[in-house]
Amino acid sequence: MSLLIHLRCSKCGAVYDADRVQGVCPRCGKPLLAIYDLEGASSLLDRAALRGRPPSLWRYRELLPVRDDRHIVSLGEGWTPLLRAERLGGRLGLRDLWIKDEGLNPTGTFKARGLSVAVSRALELGVRRLAIPSAGNAAAALAAYGAKAGLEVHVYMPRDAPRVNIVEAMAYGADVTLVDGLITDAARLLEETAKRRGWMVVSTLKEPYRLEGKKTMGYELAEQMDWRLPDVIVYPTGGGTGLIGMWKGFEELEALGWIPEHRPRMVSVQASGCAPIVKAFKEGREESEPWPEAETIASGLRVPKALGDFLILRVLRESRGTAVAVSDDEILNAMRLMAKLEGVFPCPEGAATLAGLRHLIDEGWIDPDEHIVLFNTGTGLKYTHLLEATR
Ligand SMILES: *Cc1c(COP(=O)(O)O)cnc(C)c1O
Repeated sequence: MSLLIHLRCSKCGAVYDADRVQGVCPRCGKPLLAIYDLEGASSLLDRAALRGRPPSLWRYRELLPVRDDRHIVSLGEGWTPLLRAERLGGRLGLRDLWIKDEGLNPTGTFKARGLSVAVSRALELGVRRLAIPSAGNAAAALAAYGAKAGLEVHVYMPRDAPRVNIVEAMAYGADVTLVDGLITDAARLLEETAKRRGWMVVSTLKEPYRLEGKKTMGYELAEQMDWRLPDVIVYPTGGGTGLIGMWKGFEELEALGWIPEHRPRMVSVQASGCAPIVKAFKEGREESEPWPEAETIASGLRVPKALGDFLILRVLRESRGTAVAVSDDEILNAMRLMAKLEGVFPCPEGAATLAGLRHLIDEGWIDPDEHIVLFNTGTGLKYTHLLEATR
């Protein structure tokens, strides 16, 4: 069923066996990408075959890495609504604005996509103990899919991670360890323990399959728009898997002959308290530098140095996109505005895309007639404390 053939290093191109547990490229330490037999697929699979399939990301079964259906661990992730934002567009002077609302995913964020696929594939490869260092939503999603699959889950979080994520992970039965310090400290401590105990660590881009779940945001966008892509996609960027994944998805759809060549300009939005990609993009660099003392209310964007930074920057350039930084105040205002005008209560990261869009309009980077999609990556219901504090 799956057309997966092997894994390939995103940096050096070395090829690895996909049917064994793999982490990053052993040669250069960079992420491995799942490669599919798309030539085989174009004769075997066409777009019409998708009609009538389940309304979840598993409708793209052949283009996902799980070989046997019995290993799929699903809570109904994906196939989220693509909403026309008419009132918000009107307010901003835009004629064709849309919101892809990822807040409807299990556990309330798009992290469910990546972890559904990663947990399914880990189960298939015989892994029984999973672990993750996380500042929030990824921990909850891993814990939920681990619970569904009956696997052991270990979560290492900074002691100051949002309460909701800690409580959530515990409710799903994960073993939660709170660490003094930042996510990087939690990750270091977890690496040591995981090696000793034989846990598989599913950190962002350190295993190949979370990205596969996230690329389905790109597939869905194409399918929901009748196989044409928008002019501009605005995405909140932390580790960058959403952006890198969607771009990989578009490449695959183009190889299948399912979409025309026209690709969206991709925009990374970051918080001004942690904007390593924005800085590197403006300076024309190929990699980012670690951002000192990263601080923002958008905890998903608090990533001082992304492992896939060179891939994010490549996507921004190839797509003729850009990168924008927005303040926490702008994010809070955007949360209220999106909720008030569209009935979509966004997470701070999702609201950041709206704040970023306003910058792009002011700069004249966006044409009022363009077809624009904002990604709300999670539900605001996890973040009511942010608005209470600033009422
Ligand atoms: C993790 C997270 C992000 C950042 O996503 P990447 O694709 O890894 O850059 C954005 N929003 C929310 C709600 C998140 O949990």
